[in-house]
Amino acid sequence: MQPYRPRSKLETHEVFNQPEPPSGVALWGGDAPLQQAILAAAPAHAGKVEAFAAEIGSAESVEDGRLANRFLPELVPFDRTGRRIDEVRFHPAYHAMMRRGFAGGYAALPWTTDEPGGHVAHAAMVYMLTQIEPGVCCPMTMAYAAVPALEAAPDLAARWRPGLLSTAYDGRSIPAGQKTGLTLGMAMTEKQGGSDLRANMTRAEPDDTGYRLLGHKWFCSAPMCDGFLTLAQLPEGLTCFLVPRWTPDGERNTLQLMRLKDKLGNRSNASAEIEYHSAWAERLGEPGRGIATILEMVHHTRLDTALAPAGLMRRAVAEAAWWVRNRNAFGTRLVDQPLMTMVLADLALDWMGCLAIGMRVAEAFDRSGADPTARAFARLAVALAKYWSNKRCGPVVLEAMECLGGSGFVEESPMPWLYREPPLNAIWEGSGNIVCLDVLRTVQRLPQAMEALQVELGLAKGADRRYDAALDAAQRLFGRGIEEQEARLAVETLALLLQASLLLRTGSAPVAEAFIRTRLSGEWGRTAGTLPIGASDAAAIAAMI
Ligand SMILES: Cc1cc2nc3c(=O)[nH]c(=O)nc-3n(C[C@H](O)[C@H](O)[C@H](O)COP(=O)(O)OP(=O)(O)OC[C@H]3O[C@@H](n4cnc5c(N)ncnc54)[C@H](O)[C@@H]3O)c2cc1C
Repeated sequence: MQPYRPRSKLETHEVFNQPEPPSGVALWGGDAPLQQAILAAAPAHAGKVEAFAAEIGSAESVEDGRLANRFLPELVPFDRTGRRIDEVRFHPAYHAMMRRGFAGGYAALPWTTDEPGGHVAHAAMVYMLTQIEPGVCCPMTMAYAAVPALEAAPDLAARWRPGLLSTAYDGRSIPAGQKTGLTLGMAMTEKQGGSDLRANMTRAEPDDTGYRLLGHKWFCSAPMCDGFLTLAQLPEGLTCFLVPRWTPDGERNTLQLMRLKDKLGNRSNASAEIEYHSAWAERLGEPGRGIATILEMVHHTRLDTALAPAGLMRRAVAEAAWWVRNRNAFGTRLVDQPLMTMVLADLALDWMGCLAIGMRVAEAFDRSGADPTARAFARLAVALAKYWSNKRCGPVVLEAMECLGGSGFVEESPMPWLYREPPLNAIWEGSGNIVCLDVLRTVQRLPQAMEALQVELGLAKGADRRYDAALDAAQRLFGRGIEEQEARLAVETLALLLQASLLLRTGSAPVAEAFIRTRLSGEWGRTAGTLPIGASDAAAIAAMI
């Protein structure tokens, strides 16, 4: 049977020069840099990653992603009889996306596989799912990231790990013990505190079986999670607790959803303001060590906030490339117009640089358990990647949208939701300044981290004199010590050097050359498309999209 095709010959005109959308998104076959990264760092998982790409990039999945963002989550605080239930209802398409993600191993794989490269495979899944529906990534990322944090309380870990490591998604609101798969969220941010967690006011008091929490959280995403790692004050100081949605005696916990945020983007995912009305909780980790305990979760969610912008950039530049390859203007294909080639090539450099740094950090996560140097490197490099990839993401998506002209501004195209998404990953898990201050702290308190980074940057030495000069300049900057007001400059410099070193060692020659000239040597304008390179090199780079 012929596939269904829309009618082009209309009564008033014929529709042409409007590229017909492909069916689904080629998340694996169309992405050579991703394939290269997986084959280098997680070859044992290449089959799983490819299968995940086929499932998530299918036409059905893309349509579910669209529906999940069109029919938004709804808060249902009470049932029809006036009893509190504090639930959120989602469109079935949201649940379908959650099922796909969990089934593919997004959350569980790194903790269950015996083969090396589990975190790299996970990072690839984050990168790919973000391209289709980033809202569901939030609860799945938190399920992934909660696993190592639970190690602070072995009894809690024993009860929650099996459900978190399940590849089954169970969206029912019932006690955790009865479910086939579990999710855990995190509740840190309060109105008066925000980034300064020490200002948190939620209080915990011991009771016969655990603790009781009284207070609020200003942002709590994925509020249908089965439990929440929550920070609250004890006399010893800020402490981490696990607050389950249901208490052990099968009652709904007194965790109330006050309202859902009306967010700019990430709309399929609910983010709530919540209150604890003597909510029952169990302690996770030592009293007064709450920030250190939850930081293990934050460290892992940061990996995902570093990969998500690479995914958003890739989808945006891929949409732009598809459009300009299939549309003519002034008698020539858009992609062959010299100025358009320059724009595409410039955008591709950011996408490839951000994918390279994200994957390198994931590889360090894979080696963190057995290798303290890799762990120190990961601690520093994940912050560099999170900061810089998110700073580049917004401008890249905006320029990619412009490649589609007016069609990019219309909600039927993915460009509007791609445009609304980038600020989120920049803000949560440490917004720009906070991440930069964190980098300064890491450099001061964990000298092995900077040493490991220097060794890594040294690997590309001698390959390009401009790279060597930029590295020397950075070493002088760090040699004299970084002041707080210089933190953004320092982080940007290190992130760019790490990207450049990776592209020099693993990327194509025109990519590395153009990246270094523009991003390190200052031969760059103030907008995309201002590369100082020849047309054939620009075309070669653009052809990699
Ligand atoms: C969609 C969404 C979902 C979220 N989900 C969750 C969640 O599930 N759980 C959760 O706990 N939180 C969540 N958050 C909250 C998020 O983590 C916080 O918004 C973030 O940590 C910043 O805190 P804040 O909003 O209070 O801003 P503030 O802390 O007030 O910061 C405002 C600005 O000041 C800057 N700043 C702060 N301190 C300094 C300083 N010392 N020097 C220089 N600049 C500084 C920050 O970088 C920022 O730019 C979510 C946020 C969003 C947008």
